[in-house]
Amino acid sequence: MNYLSTRGDPTPRKFCEILLEGLAPDGGLYLPERYPQVDADMLARWRTLAYHELAFEILSLYIDDIPAEDLRALCAKTYTEEVFGSADITPLRELEDGVYLEGLSNGPTLAFKDMAMQLLGNLFEYELGRRGEQLNILGATSGDTGSAAEYAMKGKKGVRVFMTSPDGRMSPFQQAQMFSLQDANIHNIAIAGVFDDCQDIVKAVSNDLAFKREYRIGTVNSINWARLLAQVVYYFKGWIEATGPQGGEVSFTVPSGNFGNVCAGHVARMMGLPIRKLVVATNENDVLDEFFRTGVYRVRGAADTHETSSPSMDISKASNFERFVFDLLGRDGARTKALFQDALAREGQFDLSTDPVFADAAGRFGFRSGRSTHADRLATIRDTDERFAVLIDTHTADGLKVAREHVEPGVPMVVLETALPIKFAATIVEALGREPDRPARFDGIESLPKRVVRLPADAEQVKRYIAEHCAA
Ligand SMILES: *Cc1c(COP(=O)(O)O)cnc(C)c1O
Repeated sequence: MNYLSTRGDPTPRKFCEILLEGLAPDGGLYLPERYPQVDADMLARWRTLAYHELAFEILSLYIDDIPAEDLRALCAKTYTEEVFGSADITPLRELEDGVYLEGLSNGPTLAFKDMAMQLLGNLFEYELGRRGEQLNILGATSGDTGSAAEYAMKGKKGVRVFMTSPDGRMSPFQQAQMFSLQDANIHNIAIAGVFDDCQDIVKAVSNDLAFKREYRIGTVNSINWARLLAQVVYYFKGWIEATGPQGGEVSFTVPSGNFGNVCAGHVARMMGLPIRKLVVATNENDVLDEFFRTGVYRVRGAADTHETSSPSMDISKASNFERFVFDLLGRDGARTKALFQDALAREGQFDLSTDPVFADAAGRFGFRSGRSTHADRLATIRDTDERFAVLIDTHTADGLKVAREHVEPGVPMVVLETALPIKFAATIVEALGREPDRPARFDGIESLPKRVVRLPADAEQVKRYIAEHCAA
């Protein structure tokens, strides 16, 4: 299997070549040259597999430059009951008739990003070890990504993490999760500024090609193909559990920000998994809902990007969306480039409303969308608690609210649970007047010693810090 770029660069690349990379050299995103197909026999055989075995079956269709026994071992080491809290890994529970929650947030940092990041940590360690190389991961986080990356990379050989975050702006729980890590290869850098300042610093450092090369700077952001591929697995698992042995179609609703999670659903559907609809749920930052309703993709400015109570979906543009549009346009790299490079730079938007392909988004590709607000979130959290005694987080609440608008009789609707409520306790208190339960292993983490340096919003000082801490 080779990988190509959504902007037309046809250079064939193998999985391990793109594993440690972000964007393709032409600025596009990597995708496999074709989607391997599954059939009814394969799906029937996969029904009885443990999660890590299922992961191996799916990953091995895309990865032919890691020996099968090594890949099998990496999957087995990643998806364990010990790390994900249950033998099921992604337990499915029925909420009301035909509506299910698939729990993706039982990993170390209580958000679905662990599902991919835990595998990425093991893949990085494996590949860097094979090459005899080191990698310094530089990132910016407003919460979930940074902690998932740190818990995946801590103690891993050959990898250091330098994670910037806006000083004092994460929830106390999220701060404590990251800053309480004492591993020598994890560096928390609290920046005097907002999340955008952190992102600007990461960009500035990455644009200094000499520095980037000398210090082997890499990233683990959501455009990484390996992360997306790891997420494909739980769509298969959700489908298996929501259908009986007779099979049939299932729809998924996905709380969405950068379109990474739901793009994995798109990949699963392109492989032939019987997914009826993929419902994109957004919060007030409704870039994606707007596109699926109107055909207009309009990137928001800073002033139009709202801080909401489902903060992990507060995006101004959806960084993985280009992957879907490439498929929507019949894999026309030149046209994808014209939209994402030229039109977005020139006008901040593009419009496919009058293009015949737009109908395919809902038709051939099965996409639907909806939007949820703070009031919807509170109402959904309250209602789910009262009627089912199930506590859901704010992002999952956005998903559930939108899912109900798209349920069809006879088709199970699986809502992906993307975080546990304890991560967003303030909104739970607002909805219910009480604190959410806290898994015992997090008792008192706010009072653990913190390992963090504070720096001004200045790329040069961040570079100096990295240089000083790479020497050892
Ligand atoms: C990252 C995140 C999302 C959004 O996922 P995308 O892949 O960016 O669409 C939704 N919910 C939670 C809790 C997250 O951490």
